Amino acid sequence: MSYLPIFVNLKGKSCLVVGGGEVAARKVVQLLKAQGQITVIAPRLCQTLIELGEKELITYKQTEFSPADLEGAWLVIAATNDFNLNQTISDLAEQRNSLVNVVDAPLLCNFIMPSIVDRDPVQIAISTGGASPVLARLLKARLETLIPAAYGRLATVMAAFRDRAKRTFPDTNTRRRFWEKVLHGPVAEMLFAGQEKPALATLERLFEDESIEPEMLGEVYLVGGGPGDPDLLTFRALRLMQQADVVLYDRLVAPAILDLARKDAERIYVGKQKDQHTLPQEKINEMLLRLARQGKRVLRLKGGDPFIFGRGGEEIDTLSAHGIPFQVVPGITAASGCACYAGIPLTHRDYAHSCIFVTGHLREGTLDLNWQALVQPKQTIAIYMGLHGLDILCRAFIDHGLSPVTPMALIQQGTTPNQRVWTGTLSTLPLIIKNQTVRPPSLVIVGEVVKLHEKLAWFKK
Ligand code: SAH
Repeated sequence: MSYLPIFVNLKGKSCLVVGGGEVAARKVVQLLKAQGQITVIAPRLCQTLIELGEKELITYKQTEFSPADLEGAWLVIAATNDFNLNQTISDLAEQRNSLVNVVDAPLLCNFIMPSIVDRDPVQIAISTGGASPVLARLLKARLETLIPAAYGRLATVMAAFRDRAKRTFPDTNTRRRFWEKVLHGPVAEMLFAGQEKPALATLERLFEDESIEPEMLGEVYLVGGGPGDPDLLTFRALRLMQQADVVLYDRLVAPAILDLARKDAERIYVGKQKDQHTLPQEKINEMLLRLARQGKRVLRLKGGDPFIFGRGGEEIDTLSAHGIPFQVVPGITAASGCACYAGIPLTHRDYAHSCIFVTGHLREGTLDLNWQALVQPKQTIAIYMGLHGLDILCRAFIDHGLSPVTPMALIQQGTTPNQRVWTGTLSTLPLIIKNQTVRPPSLVIVGEVVKLHEKLAWFKK
């Protein structure tokens, strides 16, 4: 190991930064976060440092560097653009046994500054030993996406309960299991979701349960998996997918997305079966309840957004009635995903000032829609489940006043490598796709904005 990672208490320690540019400013900001007493020496300062000076967060000496400046400096940073000067500062600081860092010159440093993932009080420091700051930044970016922003909050809560946990569970093993349960279960998830009060109440319950192997509290994550491209998942969706014990999914969830769930998680298909019977909604609700009661972390993975034509509301209604903790993670809905990937802006200053989402699902061969609300000028209509009733739909639009030449698009498997877009008008599109094989799912968009597809389509297989 060429460097020992340690965390230094800088509070009130005097730090000297030589140099007044943006590079120096970045270091100053880090030192300030750790509450160092900072003096900056430079003939002139960049805007960031001027502002810090005005707020009296740093002491500024407007001079050239002289060796006397090192007097009393506990930590020194040289960030001038003069290599010789940087080297001199490094030599002098080293002679005085100060900590010294020269920006971008690892050989002149006796300590290096890591890339930091800051979830105060949790700090993750990443170093490549000076080999590649770009690689360190890349790793940092990865960790930033994996570790919820509220991790610091979790650590703070844990700190506040540490003594009590010691008293309640004097045995270290028991205590460790207790904390593992807190971290892996609903308490942590509630905090991440910003539900502080229920989180603390649940923690309280865990404390009161003296039996310490209390049955684990299960929970349900109702997660929107987006329209198909796994890149469109949210950070939270991905994190929950990777920690769930069991996954309930249906036909609409793209295989590439299901692949991202924890490898050893049990997968249960609750969509349409081969004999065309869909598992009734009540059965799914019951299954969620049963699994959560077994203490499992249950992922209910849905295509698109769970609250848009996804029956998400019904599923959590049952959970809520039985006091099972749950959270809902939004996903990119098909209209949004398909429109973006087809280069069709749902709104546009010239063509559409509103956008409306409807279902084109036929009931006994007819469509029960509020046609007056739909046929408004300068409005885009996104129709889910609209393929089967496309003829009826187009006819009805025309009968209710839309022009037969209103542009219309059909998007098959939007955002996936199988995406296909057909465009036409209310009168031509049904004929255009008549002899085509359109693979589900597909979405219909009606409105002037469809004209932009020709120019703005960007997504290629
Ligand atoms: N909750 C989902 C919608 C469920 S309804 C969401 O928010 O997207 C199912 C309908 O969504 C399908 O019949 C189809 O019209 C549409 N849909 C879902 N994913 C799609 C995709 N990748 N491409 C085109 N349409 C899609």
